[in-house]
Parts: sequence; C-alpha cells; structure tokens
Amino acid sequence: MTAKCTRCRDKAVIELRRHNAAFCKPCFLHFFREQVKRAIDKEDMLSPPDRVLVAVSGGKDSLALWDVLVELGYDATGYHIVLWTGEDYASDSLAHTQAFADERGLKLIVHDLKEERDFTIPELRKATGRSTCGGCGLVKRHEISKAAADLGFDAVAIGHNLDDEAAVLLGNVLRWDAQYLSRQSPVLAGDDGFVKKVKPLYRLTERETAAYAFLRGIDYQVEECPLVAGNTQLRYKAVLDAIERTSPGAKAAFYQGFLDHGREHFEGSDHVELRACASCGMPTPNEVCSFCRMVEQVDKSRA
Ligand SMILES: [Zn+2]
Ligand SMILES: [Zn+2]
Repeated sequence: MTAKCTRCRDKAVIELRRHNAAFCKPCFLHFFREQVKRAIDKEDMLSPPDRVLVAVSGGKDSLALWDVLVELGYDATGYHIVLWTGEDYASDSLAHTQAFADERGLKLIVHDLKEERDFTIPELRKATGRSTCGGCGLVKRHEISKAAADLGFDAVAIGHNLDDEAAVLLGNVLRWDAQYLSRQSPVLAGDDGFVKKVKPLYRLTERETAAYAFLRGIDYQVEECPLVAGNTQLRYKAVLDAIERTSPGAKAAFYQGFLDHGREHFEGSDHVELRACASCGMPTPNEVCSFCRMVEQVDKSRA
C-alpha cells in the first residue's frame, strides 16, 4: 500500500474507505481505542472503577474487546463457555482464550456446559428442535447474565461489532419486529435483577476488529463455529457487505441512523412485568424462564 497515514503522514498499513482515511499501525490502534471510548461515553456504558465480565469465545472480536477494555483501564474478567459445538472446535476455542488470559495475567472464568449443566449445544438441538444458533444464543445470554449477577459484576460486555448489529437490525426491519427493535441497543440497562449489558465495539467493523487483533499480536481462533453454516445472520451480512462495497459508510449510516432517529419510536413496545424464575431466580416474564424450560425439555427427552 502506498497510501500515507491521515494522522501522521507515515506509511499507512490499513485504509478505511468509510472514513476516507488510512492509518499507520500506532495511529490505527489510537483510532480503534478512540472509537471504543466514544461508544462507551456516547451510550453511557461504563465508568472506570466498574468491574466488567467480558464474554470471550476465543475469536477476534471478543479477544480484541477484552484487550482494549484492559488497555482503557477497566477491571475486566473473561467469561468463556465451553459449548461443545464441535470437539476440536471447543478445545481450540478454550486454548486460545486461556493462552490470551495467561500471557496477560488476566482473570478468566471457564464454564463448561457439559460439566455444569450436563448437556451440549448439539444435544440441545436434538432434544428441543430449536435452531442451533437460537438455542446457543439463549444459553450464552442466560449463563453470563446469571454469573454476572451471582458474582456482583457491574456490567457484562459483549464483542458484537458493527457488522453484527447492522445484520440484526436488517433482520428486525425486514419483519418490522417492534419488540426486537425496541430492545436493539448497544446498551441494555441493568434493572429487575439483570446486570447491565454493553457492546463497546458497535462503532467498529469486523474488518477493523480483525486488523486490531492482528496488529496487537492477539492469537485468536480464526475458524468459525462448525454449526453456524447457513445461519440467517450470515446472509444478511453478505447483503450489507455488497451495499458497503459500492457505498462505503452505508452500514454505519444504517445502524447509527437507527440509534439516532429510529429506536425512540419503538421504545416501550416490549414493556413486560418481570419476576424471579421459579427454578433459577433470574428475571423472566413467565413463571419459569425460557432457559430453564429448555433444560426441562432436555431432561424429558432423556427420560
Ligand atoms: Zn500515523
Ligand atoms: Zn430460570
């Protein structure tokens, strides 16, 4: 690349068409941290003494998130769930996560679904007939929310990037799903027994988090989950990528435009009374939460 860094005129290592900019390594790392800081300030996500539980899969987004939060001075503990979506895939995910934590002397909590809950994601799919990614998402959300509440963390941080959020938004808009649109936000306030949930990478694309991880020397798991193939979200991402290629910045405009002008119109569409789940104590609109109902289904299918 012959481009010069927009900030310091040194030789650029990455070009960002959507910002009409190019950066050298130190300036790109600076840009990345600034975007995270802006996300945190703008959406009122965290303030420094906060204890944050970071959902880490071992992939680029979650490890980049953990790295940048530590860089910015947060007390960030990792939380890794061994989901068993594939034998080799699971041990590889854990190995990358553990190595990252050990090299930096960071605290990591490992939650093995097989040991703690006596089921795996493929078993869950078989027993419930739910879509794999849907069931897996429900398990991940429940387990980290419960751990954060039990251990007294101030917030849960998730590594969703701009591509993830824009793809979810596209799906919600295609169905005009008012309830989901009302809840789509980079911050979900903590109340009624829920710990606050934040997505500090929402201003950064997948390509940018990959570049950050690479330039920071983070050894992340490159392989995708073996069960994700054909996932609807991947198809929405491909559509948005095609638009972005001819209109750089379209993805960010789509998502940021929703945050600035769209979401306010959906607020309140999901107001429901919550109570403690009779089985696990987590907040739910029903007698028993959807996670515990799913676990019951698994138990029944075995009996
Ligand atoms: Zn520079
Ligand atoms: Zn429950």
